[in-house]
Amino acid sequence: MIDLHTHTTESDGTYSPAQLVEAAVDIGLEALAITDHDNFSGYELAAPLARAAGLDLVCGIELSTRMPRTLARHGRSVHILGYFLNEPPSDGYQQWLRQIQEARRDRNRRLVQSLNSLGVEITLEEVEAAGGHMTGRPHFAAILLKKGYVKDYQEAFDVYLDESAKAYVQRLEPGVPEGIHRIRSGNGLAVVAHPFRLNIRDHAEEEKFIRWMRDEGLQGIEVYHTDHGPGQEARYLGYAGKLDLAVTGGTDFHGDIKPRIKLGAGLGGMAIPRGVLDNLRELARA
Ligand code: AMP
Ligand code: FE
Ligand code: FE
Ligand code: ZN
Repeated sequence: MIDLHTHTTESDGTYSPAQLVEAAVDIGLEALAITDHDNFSGYELAAPLARAAGLDLVCGIELSTRMPRTLARHGRSVHILGYFLNEPPSDGYQQWLRQIQEARRDRNRRLVQSLNSLGVEITLEEVEAAGGHMTGRPHFAAILLKKGYVKDYQEAFDVYLDESAKAYVQRLEPGVPEGIHRIRSGNGLAVVAHPFRLNIRDHAEEEKFIRWMRDEGLQGIEVYHTDHGPGQEARYLGYAGKLDLAVTGGTDFHGDIKPRIKLGAGLGGMAIPRGVLDNLRELARA
């Protein structure tokens, strides 16, 4: 069993890198990828611990990119996973990541102002203390919950933080092609995360969009994911074959903020075949 999509406290997960390595060893995972949003700190902290424990740890990152305007009616940002950027990522790539982190910080400042103007008492210092390396909306949600502005985590998004909610402010995000190109020129492998969340309900349109990403340089598709039932799995496996994309899979484990999702198993029976990682490595070497 392997898990190629997980988050630590270095982004919006609740397990520290050390706790995540320990949990992976406990359940007997053969390989674990840490794919924190926008940064590599979790992977870097976990690497020596994994080595000592004999756990095969894979370096990953998850980037948020924007769908082209022509497709924006389908909503949402597109999450792209980059694998094997530890070899090491180019200077250009690291510099680009710093720009993304700065854009996030700027968004966070404006989000604090937006919440303040709605009568919510919250400060940048407070959210950054909760967030550490990558402060994101999940940390805002946790604080809104702790202070009693909302009754649960989801309500924080529904009422304040979601793209359609009243405090939302936009963040400068790279376009989909730029995300793919940056990962590839940084010597990484680019994979579309949880394609079901693209929220393109028409299958022909969905396939067309994934084909377009493939033409932009996308190399893989996350077939196995907690959000995917057997129908989605079969459909995405079909696209992988048809579009010549590598298959990947992971639970998107975030620890206690998403308590139903179990490391290595998702909501239950997910068992990502080991061969998936062997293929990815082969593709990365090629
Ligand atoms: P950020 O990158 O700071 O804009 O935060 C994005 C993260 O917030 C995503 O990765 C999700 O974990 C979470 N998120 C975004 N929208 C929602 C939503 N409507 N409900 C719950 N969580 C959400
Ligand atoms: Fe997340
Ligand atoms: Fe994601
Ligand atoms: Zn994720």
